[in-house]
Amino acid sequence: MLNLVLFGPPGAGKGTQAILLAKTFNLVHLSTGDLLRHEIAAKTELGRIAGELIDKGELVPDEIVISMIESRLKKPRCTIGFIFDGFPRTVAQAKALDKLLTKHHSKVSVMLCLSVEKAELVDRLLKRGLTSGRCDDLEAATIEHRIDIYNEKTAPIINYYESQGKYFPIHGMGTIEEIAENLSQTIKKISAKPTTVIHK
Ligand code: AMP
Repeated sequence: MLNLVLFGPPGAGKGTQAILLAKTFNLVHLSTGDLLRHEIAAKTELGRIAGELIDKGELVPDEIVISMIESRLKKPRCTIGFIFDGFPRTVAQAKALDKLLTKHHSKVSVMLCLSVEKAELVDRLLKRGLTSGRCDDLEAATIEHRIDIYNEKTAPIINYYESQGKYFPIHGMGTIEEIAENLSQTIKKISAKPTTVIHK
């Protein structure tokens, strides 16, 4: 299976690129942010808890997002793989994802990390806030807080995947098409790599 983790700070373009990659490579797109916003819109208890944290720019507890992913992976479906967008966001989530995929006789193929300068991230998110109606994109202070949380709790995941040889940094500045092309080329190269055959 081809399981991609699309990684990067808030505003890096994960959502936009995940939709394009899912189409190009025929993958199931799983975004924990979208799943949580769905719970909020449906006014569930989980949505109420998540909504308060999201509006403040905080992370939702690991158990909640892990069990959301677990239930999506359990759904029987015909796919060649998944693209994880906004998940994992902590090292504990990354470890849990490995365990879940192992249960399904699968693994993370690659982690693609979009890098974008901080000023550009803030600018993109403030612009998105004008049209998206997302409370967490409206105020510069909340955006700054989300970027701080990313640096503190999420960025350490890079080491986790790097130590497994799965970390691929991708330049995340430029047009949507240029970045999509960079991502696609990297994925094609990785998936074309021959598997190592050990001759005894
Ligand atoms: P996103 O749409 O990925 O930007 O996520 C929006 C917000 O949902 C984040 O700022 C977090 O508050 C929450 N969220 C989404 N995914 C996760 C996750 N994997 N772990 C914790 N919180 C998450």
